[in-house]
Amino acid sequence: MEQDKMQLMIGQAEKDLLHTYNRYQIVLDHGEGMYLYDVNGKKYLDFMAGIAVFALGYGNKAYDDALKAQIDKILHTSNYFYNEPAIRAASRLKKVSGMDRVFFTNSGAEAVEGALKAAMKHAWLKDGRTSHQVIAMENSFHGRTYGALSVTGNEKYRLPFGQMPCDVQFAQLNDLESVKNLVTDETCAVIVEPVQGEGGLMPASEDFLKGLRALCTEKEILLIFDEIQCGMGRTGSMFAWHRFGVRPDIMTCAKALGCGVPVGAFLLTEEVGQSSLAAGDHGTTYGGNPFACAAVNAVLDQYEALDLVHHVTETAPYLTKTLDALAAEFSCIKERRGVGFMQGLVFDRPVGPIINDAMDHGLIMINAGANILRFVPALITEKEHIDEMARILRGAIERNS
Ligand SMILES: *Cc1c(COP(=O)(O)O)cnc(C)c1O
Repeated sequence: MEQDKMQLMIGQAEKDLLHTYNRYQIVLDHGEGMYLYDVNGKKYLDFMAGIAVFALGYGNKAYDDALKAQIDKILHTSNYFYNEPAIRAASRLKKVSGMDRVFFTNSGAEAVEGALKAAMKHAWLKDGRTSHQVIAMENSFHGRTYGALSVTGNEKYRLPFGQMPCDVQFAQLNDLESVKNLVTDETCAVIVEPVQGEGGLMPASEDFLKGLRALCTEKEILLIFDEIQCGMGRTGSMFAWHRFGVRPDIMTCAKALGCGVPVGAFLLTEEVGQSSLAAGDHGTTYGGNPFACAAVNAVLDQYEALDLVHHVTETAPYLTKTLDALAAEFSCIKERRGVGFMQGLVFDRPVGPIINDAMDHGLIMINAGANILRFVPALITEKEHIDEMARILRGAIERNS
């Protein structure tokens, strides 16, 4: 396909799709392992993984075959019936997460919606009041629907959209006092990402999470962990909270859960599961359908078969070392941040030109905020991919500094 054909496709897209994204000027066509190809056949090393989604990389045969087999059986049943893939997926997700009850959604934002509704209902059952509040973190990101937006700590995302449905106060990540100062009799939940994603790859400290757990237990407030980006092995444990053993009351999961098939989940402890959302309180037409849950099962199969979480603990230190070396080499890099395969380089300038240059040279990356380069590759990343990424990125930084 000629270059101007790709431009024609992009021109068509810009006439028809609502312009809510400033997209890269590339039409992607297919993927293989760690690599993506555009419609002109140009090859890219992918360190974005569809925003922390494609944990298995592209073209995992067992995963693809499992989806094809499910298509030939049944795609959808509605939640008026049980289906076998969902039963299996729920039981396995409980086992790998350490939570007790599962509700499948179609996206991350919906998982956050469900978590907030469960927390509100739990508080309402206790005191019958409808004035409950939530504490969230500055710089957090929880999704674009109204409930999820109301706990997203970035005013720019909320401001044009009127009154938010939840009464939310924002505390500082890793500052327990700032949370304590906001607790009132009406506080029903604290929501936090164990590692902030969009907000800048900032990990919550062990002390902070342990302090939050103790505070929430003492005040009978539910602790919600949003593991949508940092979960599913990305930080070197199946869920980021496993590193510290600080168990939440409710947890959300999505992104890598389906590895490309849109599926999310919120999970609860038995106690909260028994005293929050009941029959008729919550629902979704597609959520937990056989196709989505076949994807979850295939993903979990591959996590086991490839020992992916262990692979992250083995390989991610090499990413850390490589990024530290880049940070030492270039004075425009202020800091390396993050954990495992969820890291960032903080620049003293916008990283857009570097990303565009890297893309021209066959490396796909994303930012997190204007000045941070984000590294969220597939969990199958090997050292040679990290070397290849660093070689292209070094050139891109040199040409743009
Ligand atoms: C991506 C993300 C969401 C929103 O998920 P969607 O599937 O885009 O709705 C929520 N929370 C976190 C931490 C995320 O990274």
